[in-house]
Amino acid sequence: MENQEFDIAFTHATLLTGDPAQRELRDATLAVAKGQIAWLGPDLPEHARCKRIIDARGKVITPGFVNVHTHSILTMVRGVAADLGFAPSYTPGIPKGTQVSPEQARVLARLGALEALMFGSTLIGDNFVYADLTTEAMADLGMRLTPSWRIHDVDFTKVADGRWEYSTRIGAQLLQAGLDLADRWKDHPLVNVQLAAHAVDTCSDAFLREIAHASRERGLRVNTHLGQSRLEVERVRERTGKTSTEVLNDVGLLNERLLGGHCIYVTDSDIALMAGAGAHAVHIPKCNATSGRLAPTPKIKRAGINLALATDTQHGDMVELMRWALMTARVQEGAVNSDWQPQHAFHMATLGGANAVGMADRIGSLETGKDADLVMFDFGRPHLTPRTNALGTLVHTGQGRDVEMVMVNGSILVEGGRPTRVDMDEICAEAEQVCEALWRDAH
Ligand SMILES: [Zn+2]
Repeated sequence: MENQEFDIAFTHATLLTGDPAQRELRDATLAVAKGQIAWLGPDLPEHARCKRIIDARGKVITPGFVNVHTHSILTMVRGVAADLGFAPSYTPGIPKGTQVSPEQARVLARLGALEALMFGSTLIGDNFVYADLTTEAMADLGMRLTPSWRIHDVDFTKVADGRWEYSTRIGAQLLQAGLDLADRWKDHPLVNVQLAAHAVDTCSDAFLREIAHASRERGLRVNTHLGQSRLEVERVRERTGKTSTEVLNDVGLLNERLLGGHCIYVTDSDIALMAGAGAHAVHIPKCNATSGRLAPTPKIKRAGINLALATDTQHGDMVELMRWALMTARVQEGAVNSDWQPQHAFHMATLGGANAVGMADRIGSLETGKDADLVMFDFGRPHLTPRTNALGTLVHTGQGRDVEMVMVNGSILVEGGRPTRVDMDEICAEAEQVCEALWRDAH
């Protein structure tokens, strides 16, 4: 261990490791070398050399948050869409993905991704239109991505008017775009492309089978909106006589590569199907609750399904979201119990997400040998004092804006609460202009 060289070390830190073997380390040292966590201990090893040492007294360091389902472009409907309907794509009178220009998509994707990054998401699973351009724009920020094109064969220009018309031309184009994206990024260390079957109501059975085939052939994960709305459930029931989960099972998509977003309208037998298949449930508690709905997370958890956490649209704060995950579960349990404690919400936001994206061996907890994706919080603030139980305090009163530093793969991307690689003020100003134009056109 002598003469070890580190790029950066955090000393005297409180580490919420997320590692079930040693959850919290106090007055500890974490050192990073070549993009990985190379040392965890009370002090640096003797004779270690370190290019930079950060005194992390009063700071709390966590793994980076793994935010597996976002649509950064939909920051454009923030402050409005939440009070209108359940999902922007289905709601008349507000800007749609189909109305956004390539340049507008790029600007908005940077805004959404930057928000998530500054609030501690070191990975986002972003999915929407123009994924070729937005993936580049978001990758510029230095964060980890599991991006995907929004793939469907429904004609989305008609859905908000209540017409579900499927087109093989639209489906073929979008699936090809999704596969091209995977080819384009296949060697990038921080980008793992997924396929995004938008939802069972917006993809015909035949098209879902094509996506399942591509996922199997290429080993690509598939994310989808599963049981997101009553409308979806009714449409799918009319078309197939089945639940969305049953359709996914029949077409060969319900497996360990599937990330099912929302899981609000899932029956007990759907949950059993998901558990048997090893599919992942992506919990989106704030968006769901904002539109008056709850996912049956206590049942999902009891079935042994891996739960990940995601912000989805209109906000990017995974810290606040842990609180929503905990509270929405307790509301359903009608009590405080041992199934739903801060460590469970924390697990969903970190290792649960890493597991869902197939990267639990590399990210999701602070362990030596894992990639150095981490977040440092400034706990020297009234609402985060005392640190008697740092995790309890983080989950119950922490906010994304308490994030002081974000590191991805050993690179510092946020320091002093500001991004290091991009101009935050410019990104906000550009996005403000784009949104003004989009809303003007939508009316
Ligand atoms: Zn979504």
